[in-house]
Amino acid sequence: MSKIRCGTCHVPLENDDNIIMDFFNTLTHRGCYQQDPKMIIDVDTFKNLKVKVSPHSNNAYK
Ligand SMILES: [Zn+2]
Repeated sequence: MSKIRCGTCHVPLENDDNIIMDFFNTLTHRGCYQQDPKMIIDVDTFKNLKVKVSPHSNNAYK
């Protein structure tokens, strides 16, 4: 299973990084995010977001 990478800088995300999830379920470091702030759905550490976007909750944000 490949690591999830930041949508902007493509560095693998670490558990304690602050991550932004946007409308398209793209995960980006908080410091890398350059899109419209209105598109932000959630900001949390990667380890917390992984729980929220587990394969069994794909529709949680739709
Ligand atoms: Zn990044």
